[in-house]
Amino acid sequence: MKLFEHEAKDIFREFKMPTPPGGVAKTPKEAKKRAEEIGRPVVVKAQVLSGKRGKAGGVKFADTPDEAESLTAQILEMRINDLPVEAVLVEEKLNIAQEIYAGITIDRNRRQYVVIGSAAGGMSIEELAEESPEKIIKKNVDPFLGFQAYEAQEMAVAMGFEGKDILKLASFFLKLWKIVEKYDVELTEINPLILTEEGEFLAADARLNIDNNALYRHQDLIRELERKPHEQNDRERLATEEGMAYVELDGNIACICNGAGLTMATLDAVELYGGKASTFLDLGGGADAKRVERGVEIALMYPKVKAILVNIMAGITRCDEVAKGLISAREDGDITVPLVVRMVGTNEEEGQKMLNDAGIPFLETMEEAAKKVVEITQEAA
Ligand code: GDP
Ligand code: MN
Repeated sequence: MKLFEHEAKDIFREFKMPTPPGGVAKTPKEAKKRAEEIGRPVVVKAQVLSGKRGKAGGVKFADTPDEAESLTAQILEMRINDLPVEAVLVEEKLNIAQEIYAGITIDRNRRQYVVIGSAAGGMSIEELAEESPEKIIKKNVDPFLGFQAYEAQEMAVAMGFEGKDILKLASFFLKLWKIVEKYDVELTEINPLILTEEGEFLAADARLNIDNNALYRHQDLIRELERKPHEQNDRERLATEEGMAYVELDGNIACICNGAGLTMATLDAVELYGGKASTFLDLGGGADAKRVERGVEIALMYPKVKAILVNIMAGITRCDEVAKGLISAREDGDITVPLVVRMVGTNEEEGQKMLNDAGIPFLETMEEAAKKVVEITQEAA
C-alpha cells in the first residue's frame, strides 16, 4: 500500500523527524488559509500516488496566499502521471543549499533491507544509479542486529558530511529504520532531504510503501488514513476482480500470458529485442476462451498499449480455447492494435489452425514472437 506524501510525513513526524511546516488542502480556499498560517513563501504539491510530480508540473511555488490559492486551483484540475489530484500539500518553501537522498528498501538478492544514501539527491535514484553510481552509498541491514547508530553515522561520513551534520543526517536514517520496522515498510524514500542555507536538515518529500502482505498488522493505521488499502485504477480493479495479476508499465506492448514466471520471461524477451512492455498480465491457470477475451479487453483499456503479445504455455489451459477467445475478441472489434501470438502445449495444433484460418500471426517461439511484436511497434512509431 502506497501512502500519500502528507500521510507519510505524518508518520515521519510521529518519529520526530523534521519536516517543513504546512498541511493538506482540498480546495483553493483551504490552500490560501494554509499559506496565511505559514506566513512565508510556500510550495504547493499535488498529492498523488506517483513520483516525479515535479517534472509533471505538480510542484509549484507561491510567494503570497493569493498565489497559493490560484496555483492550487490549477493543480487540482490536473492529472499527474494519469492520476487525478484530490488534494495538495502546502508547505513552507525552503532555501535549498543541498538536495540529499535517503531511503530504505528491500535487497531481494541478499534477502535483507538496504539503506541507501546520496549527497546528490533530487533526481530519481534510478537515474542517479545510471549516471553516477559511485555517488550512491549503501549498507545492508543485519536482520538480527537491525540498523545501528554507528552504521548510520558511517553512511553520513561516506556521503561527505562533517562535524555536527553527521549526527543530524544519521538520525534521519535511524528514524527511517524505526519506521520500516514498525510499519513493515517495503520502500521508504526522502528525496529530497533538504539541507537549507540555514544549516537545517528537513524531509521535503516522503515516500512510504507498506508491504501488502503485512497490512493485517496495521489495521489501526488503515482506519486512521480513512481510505481503502489498495488504491487502484479501473483496469487494476477489473483485473483483480477477475483474479488476474495485472501490472502497468511505461512501454507500449501488452504481454498477456499464463503464469507469473512466463509473463516475466516474456517481458524480458520484449526488452531484449529493444521493446518496452506496457502491461504484465497473468491470466492464471486454466484460462478458458472467455477469460482470454476478458484479459485482452482489460489490457486494451490502457491507452499506452500499441500491440499485444500473447504467450501461452498450455497445460490445463488449452490452445484451442485461447484461440477461440482471441478470435472472438477480434470479431467483437475489441482488438484495435496488432496482435502477435505464440502458444505451445495442449491442443496446440487445433489452436494454431484456428488462428491461421482467422489470419492471426502465430509464431513458434517466444523469441520470434517478441522480436515480431517489437518490430511492429517500431514500424508504427
Ligand atoms: P517529486 O517530483 O514527486 O519527487 O516531488 P518533490 O517533493 O521531490 O519535489 C520536486 C522538486 O521540487 C524537489 O526536488 C525540489 O527541487 C523542489 N522542491 C520541493 N520542495 C521544495 C521547497 O520547499 N523549496 C524549494 N526551493 N524547492 C522545493
Ligand atoms: Mn521527490
